[in-house]
Amino acid sequence: MTFEKLNIIEPIVRALTNKGYSEPTPIQEKAIPHLLAGKDVFGTAQTGTGKTAAFAIPILQNLYAGKTDRKLSGPRALILAPTRELAIQISESFSDYSKGLKLKHTVIYGGVSQNPQTEILRKGVDILIATPGRLLDLMNQGFIKLTGIEVFILDEADRMLDMGFAPDIKRIIAKLPVKRQTGFFTATVPNEIKALADSLLRNPVKVNVAPVSAPAEMVNQSVYYVEKADKKALLQQIFDSEEIETALIFTRTKHGADKVSRDLNKLGIPAVAIHGNKSQSARQKALQGFKDRSIKVLVATDIASRGIDVDKLSHVINFELPEVPETYVHRIGRTARAGESGTAISFCASEERGSLKDINKLLPKSIEVRNMPGFAGKPRELEIAAAQNSERPHKSFRAGQSGSGNRFRRKR
Ligand code: AMP
Repeated sequence: MTFEKLNIIEPIVRALTNKGYSEPTPIQEKAIPHLLAGKDVFGTAQTGTGKTAAFAIPILQNLYAGKTDRKLSGPRALILAPTRELAIQISESFSDYSKGLKLKHTVIYGGVSQNPQTEILRKGVDILIATPGRLLDLMNQGFIKLTGIEVFILDEADRMLDMGFAPDIKRIIAKLPVKRQTGFFTATVPNEIKALADSLLRNPVKVNVAPVSAPAEMVNQSVYYVEKADKKALLQQIFDSEEIETALIFTRTKHGADKVSRDLNKLGIPAVAIHGNKSQSARQKALQGFKDRSIKVLVATDIASRGIDVDKLSHVINFELPEVPETYVHRIGRTARAGESGTAISFCASEERGSLKDINKLLPKSIEVRNMPGFAGKPRELEIAAAQNSERPHKSFRAGQSGSGNRFRRKR
């Protein structure tokens, strides 16, 4: 699938290509056509799936095509996000995707002076990204009117409710025009979320990131319990002790990917990081190097790794476990393709044990726990837990909860 096939207009495709997006993510592929068609969408997707672009791209394209007179009606699209960080991130995505479109957007959030925000609003914006408190505040002061809103997006709705924003959201919704398009995104669907969605959406199309199938039988999976600070040393030992032809190493963040690749290079192992901050040409060069084996190791974030299709990838290493358990299955599915055998090695720090437990629940059999002989970095509690229960590692966590290792209990 390509963005062109989703009928995305050329200036946006160009902006996406500059960002290094070569193909839509699953949530984008599913949500964009419906949002472009003006339908309401109920999307179940976590952060990290590309959901921001899933709603930002159709908003930009539809507003760009629309003829409404913005001076008369104030902002035409409103995106509500629970936190200032998320609101800023969404605003940055709009900046990235809207190059050349002449559509104006701004972001407003609390905790800072309102003057620069009201100054921009006064000049007029097409797209407003906001946290609920500051939005209501500026609405009450008469700086913002929502009567011209054509598209409303509620992002991370479950987190909004967890943070106690339900009354604010209701007040905001009451000021929106009845005739509008609504996109509702949430990672989980508890009853309150269902009720809120029902009150907001009209004949919504439901889209979610499909659960993935079981991992390839041929992947030899293992997990090492290792504290964060010791992961680098363990990685070195693995490279010393295993026959690694090519490895794809996963980190949770772009910064983490850069760091791991730097560390490997210092050890004389040619590695390159690929992630969203790298240009398309840098990514392609890295992939080519990986394919012709001049680069032995690629270090990638989950989304950046999409499209990496390498035959005979011997190892997948989860330097950090993914938060979404299905992602583990996606990751390890990169090795052991076409009947070949492959190896997937995961590192699990104490704060990641909740993620490991969730992954094990998804698998037909828990991942085998391994120890690196002579590896000093492993904390004693985990060593004991692993020894007690090497068959099903997550049970060791339960054991930890009843006594010895309860500092590893996951905070929910
Ligand atoms: P989000 O789930 O919206 O927070 O997006 C997660 C990350 O994926 C962000 O860093 C985006 O820049 C990146 N991203 C979104 N869509 C794509 C895509 N189609 N290809 C590559 N990266 C993407």
